[in-house]
Amino acid sequence: MIYLDYTADTPVDERVLKVFSDTAAEHFANPNSAHPAGRSAKKIIDNALSDIADILGVKPDELIFTSGASEANNLAIKGLAFANRHRGKHIISTFLEHSSVSGALTFLQEQGYEIDLVNILPNGLVDLDDLRRLLRPDTVLCAVCAVDSELGTVQPINEIAEILKDYPDCRLHIDATQAVGKIPVTFAGTDTACFAPHKFYGLKGCGVLYKRGGVVLEPLIHGGASTTIYRSGTPDTAAIAACRAALETAVNELDKRREHIGALNGFIRNELAEIPQVRINCPDGAVPHILNVSVNGIKGERMRELMDERGICISVKSACSVPNTPSRAVMAVSRDRKNALSSWRVSLSHLTTQEEAQTFIDALKDIISQI
Ligand code: PLP
Repeated sequence: MIYLDYTADTPVDERVLKVFSDTAAEHFANPNSAHPAGRSAKKIIDNALSDIADILGVKPDELIFTSGASEANNLAIKGLAFANRHRGKHIISTFLEHSSVSGALTFLQEQGYEIDLVNILPNGLVDLDDLRRLLRPDTVLCAVCAVDSELGTVQPINEIAEILKDYPDCRLHIDATQAVGKIPVTFAGTDTACFAPHKFYGLKGCGVLYKRGGVVLEPLIHGGASTTIYRSGTPDTAAIAACRAALETAVNELDKRREHIGALNGFIRNELAEIPQVRINCPDGAVPHILNVSVNGIKGERMRELMDERGICISVKSACSVPNTPSRAVMAVSRDRKNALSSWRVSLSHLTTQEEAQTFIDALKDIISQI
């Protein structure tokens, strides 16, 4: 089997798994307990928080652990909207968002919030003029992905943050799930931002929400204070330690990994350029680990099945999105429904080999020749 879906999930790094299992075995006590075993678990969490905060350039008490990026997106979006409902009920987001953002927004719409989606330019970037036009005194939230999971476009977060400075009641939430551990990231200028370590060779079931000090959120899970008042429940000491290990490793190895992935991306693009039926949907400047492609006349779902038959794992849209509908992200950049329905994605890793890339290209040529 050839796995080319590293944007959906990554295999856990052995070093991270060891940290998880050692910590789970040794520090099983509830970190909220006052006794020595609890205190030693709490110390593990405090050390991990402090290291993660250092890497991200934030403060340890600005980090909230969740079950994944979906929960973190929901907590940020609903939490900010509810906490600021007295200021306004207008929210701005984009067509490029993951379902955990768009789904939370649909939920809020049903609660009486007004949602506007900002125009996306043909280069995949948020149309900043349209953003300026949409902003209102009662806009309480702007939610944008740092990198979208289908096209890999890197959004101009600093410019967006700059524009929002004129709207002090508007909070900026960044879904950085496809950015952290893959490209250099800063949360400067954002109010909340989230990610999950399973996207960079950590474990599933863990997510992180950054909440700038002073920003108020209404929690989704009520209960005791635990390590944070914003998310009750016994913190998972081992998962937090493993998250630190995954983040440290990803950041330390970022340049090496990107170099390898960049070379593979260049190779695949060159090969695809030779096939007339192929269109690459990723705009210039997209992250190298994501390649979104359409083949004229073949629906994305059919292509996935044909690749399945050859033992190659590709994906159509993101794993959590609604099947058999055109990709909203590809529609946003190409304005072409047929092209959006034909689109699919391969995503690369430092673990992807040149042989795997070649086998994928050979399979694609074979499929196209038979249709
Ligand atoms: N946001 C983005 C951009 C994603 O790609 C994903 C996962 O595919 C998520 C959020 C949700 O992450 P999780 O599976 O950790 O809930």
